[in-house]
Amino acid sequence: MKSIPPYHNRPWFIETSFPGVRRCKKDAFLIGKEIFKGKSDFQDIYIFESPGFGRILVLDGIIQFSQSDEFIYHETIAHVPLLSHPSPKRLLVVGGGDGGVLREAVKHPLAELYQVEIDRKVVALAKKHLPFVSRGAFSDKRFSISFEDGRKFIKRYKDFFDVIVVDSTDPVGPGKVLFQGDFYKTVFEALTSDGIAIFQLGPFLDFDLIVKPTARKLTPYCRYVHPVRLPMPSYSCGCEYCFMIASKKIDPASIPPSVIAKRLKERLGTKASSLKYYTPPMHLASMVMPRMWQL
Ligand code: SAM
Repeated sequence: MKSIPPYHNRPWFIETSFPGVRRCKKDAFLIGKEIFKGKSDFQDIYIFESPGFGRILVLDGIIQFSQSDEFIYHETIAHVPLLSHPSPKRLLVVGGGDGGVLREAVKHPLAELYQVEIDRKVVALAKKHLPFVSRGAFSDKRFSISFEDGRKFIKRYKDFFDVIVVDSTDPVGPGKVLFQGDFYKTVFEALTSDGIAIFQLGPFLDFDLIVKPTARKLTPYCRYVHPVRLPMPSYSCGCEYCFMIASKKIDPASIPPSVIAKRLKERLGTKASSLKYYTPPMHLASMVMPRMWQL
C-alpha cells in the first residue's frame, strides 16, 4: 500500500493573529492547492484549497470562510435579521464581497438590494474562484453594487433601509472604520423606524474585549441589542462565533417560532429547502446565551 507523505513535510497556511486580541493560539491548514495569491489596493488576498475545508478565502492573513462552513455564517447573518423584520423591502449589505450574504438575501421577496464593498478585486476573484458562494446572485435584477468605503456610502442615506447587514473584515485594515462609534450612528440613521442591523463581530472568547464594548456602542441608538451565536469551525474562535443584532423597535429574540416559521414559508416558499443551517428554532437558539455571555 502506498504510504501517505508525513503532514509536517507538506506546506501549511498559518493564520495571522490580529494585534491585541488573539491569544497564544494559531490555526494551521494543510495547503492542497494554491488558487490565487496577490494584493489589491486595500488588502492581501489569498485563496487556497485545503483537503479538510475545501476552498478558503484569506484577507490580510485572516480566514474569511471555508467552503465547508460558509453556509452557517451566511444563512445566519442574512435570515436572522430579514425574518425578524415584519416586511423588509430594502436591504443593504456592507462588505460581503464574496456574495454569500447576497446569495441568501435574494431568496427573499425584497424590492431592492444594495451592496457597498470597498474592494472590487474581492468581488472579481470570488466570482472567478469561489462561484459556489454567490451562485449567480450578483446578476439579480433587484441588486446594485457600489465600490467605495461603506462608512462614506451610508452617510448619504437617512430612514431608507429596512435591514442592514454589515459583513465586514475584522477591526484591522479597511474594516477598522466599520467598528467605530460614528459608523453605528450612521447605520441607525440610515435605517427605517422599525429597522434592524446585524454586524459580524468576533469570537466569544473575546467577550469582554469585543462583544460587550460593541453592545455598549450600539445601545444609545436602538432598544434591542443581542449577541447572535454560531459555530464556525474554520475560524480561530474556539468554535463559538458571534454577530451582534441591533433593532430599533422589534425584539428579534422574542418573536414566537411559529411566526418565524410562517414568514419563512410565505417569503422563501420552496427556496427554504436550500437552507442547511437556519431553521425557526435555530433563529431563537442563536440568541440564547450562557450566563457568562449575557449582556
Ligand atoms: N466572513 C467574513 C469574516 O470572516 O470576517 C467577512 C466576509 S467579506 C469577504 C468582508 C468584506 O468586507 C471584504 O470583501 C472587504 O473588502 C470588505 N470591507 C472591508 N472594509 C470595508 C469598508 N470600509 N467598506 C466596505 N467594505 C469593506
